[in-house]
Amino acid sequence: MTEAQQLFVLLAVLYLVECTGWAHAHAYAFHSWLGESFKPVRPGRWFGNPDGGLLVRHLLPPLGTHFLAQWCPISFSRDAIVGYVPQAVGTVDRPNQSAQCWRRDDVEEVRVDGKYVLVNGERFVRCVGDPEARHYADRIRQWQTGGQPLELIARWLDESLDVDAIDSRWQEFVQRSAASRFFGNLLFCLLFVAGPFLVWQQGLSRAWVFLIIPLVPLVLGAVITFVRLHRFFVPDDRVDRILHAFVAAVYPLEACRAVDMVSRHVFTGYHPLAVACALCREDDFRDFGRRFLSDLHFPLQPVFHLEEPAARTVVEDFRELQIDACNRMLAREEIELGTLMTSWMPEEGSQTYCPRCQSQFVLETGLCSVCGIELLNWGEELG
Ligand SMILES: [Zn+2]
Repeated sequence: MTEAQQLFVLLAVLYLVECTGWAHAHAYAFHSWLGESFKPVRPGRWFGNPDGGLLVRHLLPPLGTHFLAQWCPISFSRDAIVGYVPQAVGTVDRPNQSAQCWRRDDVEEVRVDGKYVLVNGERFVRCVGDPEARHYADRIRQWQTGGQPLELIARWLDESLDVDAIDSRWQEFVQRSAASRFFGNLLFCLLFVAGPFLVWQQGLSRAWVFLIIPLVPLVLGAVITFVRLHRFFVPDDRVDRILHAFVAAVYPLEACRAVDMVSRHVFTGYHPLAVACALCREDDFRDFGRRFLSDLHFPLQPVFHLEEPAARTVVEDFRELQIDACNRMLAREEIELGTLMTSWMPEEGSQTYCPRCQSQFVLETGLCSVCGIELLNWGEELG
């Protein structure tokens, strides 16, 4: 292999690394290859652990878009917050969570350290990114200082499940990311199409000049459009904006993927269920909605490893508030909960089923061996 070939192989490997990322288990990714319908993807489908997993984004910038959406990692109640939620969608493990319980009067300081929200100097919850951590830190401050906390929590949940707002934000992103995507696409074509062709035709010693001349303005254009896009969708994260702009300026592969650095934070504070409803095809939404709602209504057992009874009550009350908010969202979208959660049919000989994982059993009664949930008879009401 010649030196030029080795160089392009190295570039391709580094580009593949740019296409991967790690996401927390409390999030779902939404990928689209052609920009129309999105597929929900659980982090760690191929490689991961209970705390999170590897995500592989689309390889070609011209064709794909990648969003992340995280459900609320904090259980809120009128008088206390707990760094624990029982959700474990699509897995048989829960991520490690602090499970700290703080009463309203005991919260003296809330701050952010990277992806972590710290309460009184202790790590309370971990989020998928810095903007998400700031979002939930603000929620805790508002919960502590605002009046009528239950109304506040219900309003937040409704806002996070606002499908129309998500659709508007998606349309805005399509419009505003066009310039950044244009420069990313041209850079990709220069590095992986025109570059190898020129080197093959003229050799590396002569071709590099023809590559550098367009490379400089394209990288500059990618950086400027990235900064504008980032400033609009992630206005509070100036440090992240400067850091990524600098890296993109000196590392063209990062500039190629500049849109991804913004898109993963576009739906900060929005619930994955509503994002799926706004962006996915109906069958993909129904599949994701069934898994999410089954998990919410019938959480993996045992639900609690929490010793403190007050913390258990907070977690259970917040789960009920989430169920109510999801029901309101389904009603707004005219989707019937029953048909969403029972879209499968009994197999021959099956007597019972697990309402969480949908495994079917010949037993007349018992517990699901995977989820620890009491089996239901066919025809028995869910919820
Ligand atoms: Zn099960």
